[in-house]
Order: sequence, then structure tokens, then C-alpha cells
Amino acid sequence: MLYCRSRRNKLIQTSIQMKKIYIPGARSQIARHNTIRDINRQIVLNFIRVHSPISRAEIARETSLQRSTISAIVEDLTQEGFVEDIGTGTSTGGRKPTLLRLKTGTPVALGVDVTPRETTIALADLAGNLLETERFPTSSDIRYMNEQILGKVSKFAASYPNAELRVGISIPGIADPSSNTIAYIPYFQWTNWDIGKQIEEKTGLPVTIDNDANAVALAELWFGDGQISKTHNFITILVAEGIGTGIIIKGEVYRGEFGAAGEFGHMYVGEGAPVECSCGRRDCWEAHASEKAMISRYLNGRESVAKGNVDMEQIINLALNGESRAIETLKSSAKSLGIGISSLIVGFSPQAVVISGSIVRAWDIVKEDLQILADRSIRTELASPAIVPSTLGDEPTILGSIGLILAKKFAAGS
Ligand SMILES: [Zn+2]
Repeated sequence: MLYCRSRRNKLIQTSIQMKKIYIPGARSQIARHNTIRDINRQIVLNFIRVHSPISRAEIARETSLQRSTISAIVEDLTQEGFVEDIGTGTSTGGRKPTLLRLKTGTPVALGVDVTPRETTIALADLAGNLLETERFPTSSDIRYMNEQILGKVSKFAASYPNAELRVGISIPGIADPSSNTIAYIPYFQWTNWDIGKQIEEKTGLPVTIDNDANAVALAELWFGDGQISKTHNFITILVAEGIGTGIIIKGEVYRGEFGAAGEFGHMYVGEGAPVECSCGRRDCWEAHASEKAMISRYLNGRESVAKGNVDMEQIINLALNGESRAIETLKSSAKSLGIGISSLIVGFSPQAVVISGSIVRAWDIVKEDLQILADRSIRTELASPAIVPSTLGDEPTILGSIGLILAKKFAAGS
């Protein structure tokens, strides 16, 4: 999100390959890269991830793999610390089956979530549980940020020398995965930041960097509500300082040429927005429906008096406590959000649209206006896609940074 279109061509010259994100069942894609044994291992691991607690017999029924193959794979996965027994389930006649689940409590991923206000470094296990977190205010001084992130990641790496950690970095900007650099973060005007390369050189840990909205889309596939994680075509809309969209097509994040797809925050939705967009215009979706638009709408011309005295969290709390001005702000902002969503639905025909960000806390207040506006563009002969709140919580981009790693870990089975 927060992408400034005018600088694209100047800054991004490297062609960025779209990376494949594997999902359970996507066997044909996996087969190009792995042996049969690796494929079977991924199938078993992903079944345990999605369906745990699950027994070996159930995995055999669902995957059509031989029971002996599954037992051998489960033994390997247990020894390698991916999977654990959690006791016995209900018998269907014979011996009670042992149930399996992903092993929790062992650190495998180190997420670095850079947002305009705060940077979080979080250590997580295979199930996405956060084991340790460190936070600090994001500074506009890139040298300070570089030092902080490098220092904290190195400290985590040194504290867990035996853990097979990987580092995922979520940023409000454009990443270049081919060189592991951050191409551009418009909020701070940072360009060509090679923090990924520096982390790899200093710690030896592999690093993956991606745009925050892409990372959140991936987290929805990995940790989201069961209905969403089983959906193969959906769009996530991250409503924060700006508006970012992540596009999942056939279970993969669609990044487009230059990794710059999904910048719908800058599509034209009408003149007269309450704030300037990060690109400087006043007709972008982001200028009408981002958190900064909502704050401005709430203040309604009183910016000079109240600037800095109210934030999104307070507006949501006020609305939940029944304050009419706050409720009206959220409802009219939901209409602005709905206008953009209707265009995305017409263009992509997704199975679902998932909204994430703090506005989700006020879902009961905004859902009706969102749906009404979105429905206006839906062709009557087709079923409406579900517009649903994210279940990733108030800080979806943290789980996004972790999701970048777990997606790789499960796909590679290593
Ligand atoms: Zn814009």
C-alpha cells in the first residue's frame, strides 16, 4: 500500500518474478520441483496443519496415501520437530488412534513488521503463535531503523542458535524479491534499502520480503478463518494509514509486473476526498476510505484544533460506545470503502473480500453500508461474494510477516 505511482518507473527497473505460493492439494505445481517423497511429505504436513488434530488413519483416508508411507513420514516429521502427538482420539472399533498436530512452542519464524507508526519483531512457532515480541516506534531515520532491525534480529538469532529460523519482512511499500531489497517505502521516501541482504550476511538466516497487503493475504490463507483459507480466489483489503489490496488467484498471491499489482488505493473513486492521498491526489480510494480519511472526516474541518488528539482506535471506541459523530464517520467511510470494493468485485469476481485493519472491531456498525455499496455493482444473475472481516486481529501485518515464512516452510517441507 501507499505506493506512489509517479516514482514507479524511475525506481523499479528489475523485473520481479511472481513467486508461487503452494496450497494443500496443489500437487501438480509441487511436482515440478520435488521428488515423490517430498510431495507426499508436503501433503501429509499440510493435512496436519489444516485438519489437526488428525489421526494417521484419517490422513490415509483423505490423501489415498499408503498407511505405511504416512507412518514413515509422520515419524520423520516428529523427529524433525514439525509434528507432535497429543494423545488418543475416539476409537471407531479397534485401537484408539493417536492424534497429531503441528508442534507448537518451537520458534521457526522471525517476523519483522514495519508500519509507518511502529515496528514489531516477533518470534513465532509453526502454528503462528507469537512466542516473543519486541516493538519500537518507527523512525524516519533509515540508518536508525537499519541498526535497530539488524541488532534485534541478530539478538533473536543468537538466543536461538539451534532453531532453524527464517526471517519474513512485511513493509508498506514495494519489495524486490529477486535481490531481497526494499525498492520503495513512500511514507518515508526510502529507496533501495538492502536490509534483507544485510540480515542474511550478518546472521546467515534466509530472508523473505513482501508488501504488507500481499503478506496479509498470505496470512489469511495460512491462519485465517477456515472458510477463507479454503477459498482459492479472494481479495484482502488492508485499511490502515493507506489502503492496500492483496489478490489471491488460485491460491497464489498475484504480484503482477514489478511486484506492483494491487495498488487499488490509487484508483479514481471521485473528487473531494477529505485528505490528500499519499500520491498527492484527492480523488484516490485511499484519500476517501483510509484511516487518515476517517480521522479527518471525524474532525470535519477542526483539524487545526484537534490534530493529533484523536486516533483511529479512539474513534472506534467512541462509536462502539454510541457516540453519533463517530458512528456517522464510520458509516460514511464504509460507503467509500464499498465503492472501491464494488469495482474489485466486478473486475475479479472473487469468492470473498476480506477486510482487515482496526475497522474490523466496528464490523457491526460498518457491515451494512459496505454491503449495500458493494452490491450495487454486482450482476444480479450472479451470487454475491462474501464481504467478511479478517480474523487475524488488530495487527494483521505481524501475522503477515510470519506467513511469508510459513508459506515457504510448508511448501518446501524443510
Ligand atoms: Zn493516490
